[in-house]
Amino acid sequence: MTGPDKHGHDHHDHGHDHGHDHGNSHDHDHARTFQPDIEDAPFGQYQVMAQALGEVLIDKGVITPDEMREQLEWLDARSPSDGARLVARAWTDPNFKALLLEDVNAAAESVGATAGDIPIRAIENTPAVHNVVVCTLCSCYPRGLLGLPPDWYKSREYRSRTVREPRAILAEFGTVIADDVEVRVHDSTADLRYLVLPMRPAGTEGMAAAALEELVTRDCMIGVSLPRTPRP
Ligand code: FE
Repeated sequence: MTGPDKHGHDHHDHGHDHGHDHGNSHDHDHARTFQPDIEDAPFGQYQVMAQALGEVLIDKGVITPDEMREQLEWLDARSPSDGARLVARAWTDPNFKALLLEDVNAAAESVGATAGDIPIRAIENTPAVHNVVVCTLCSCYPRGLLGLPPDWYKSREYRSRTVREPRAILAEFGTVIADDVEVRVHDSTADLRYLVLPMRPAGTEGMAAAALEELVTRDCMIGVSLPRTPRP
């Protein structure tokens, strides 16, 4: 299902503005049930569009308020643990890794996780390539597998500088990538999201998938950091 999430992000049409007259078709004013009160500030353009879309879908009977609430509850309950489960499984199961690299959504489904309807691509870090993910326009993110994006992911600073100077951004996260390793930046969109498949840390050869999951942080699946190293 598509619909506005609680921040009004993600389901906009990038670069697209309908410019319809909102006032004429609406003589009733819904309370902003699904939106936070941000100091009672006026809504931004995307918030207005998301709110209007939600109202229309409910008014037309396409979705019910209950379905809207269920979807928001589902989103709020997501966490990076599902993503970590996929990564640890890929580290320990070559067949699963092949499936993950081919189709993240199907791979997630196969282990009982839900990646959502929007295609997600896994990008594998190697000794030669380090991948990092950004959404330069807003906050597109594999929410089904990682939960809601962190505030810094949505910041103008991260969105603009990651494409211009990725190594400098990574260094600010404490991640120094060797000069002979290529850094690739992937720009998420409303139609395609990314999940970084980090390299399995050295010294974890004997570890089972469940223990490996503990090493897989949210940030290493965005690509701004590396997995934890195991405690000796
Ligand atoms: Fe976006």
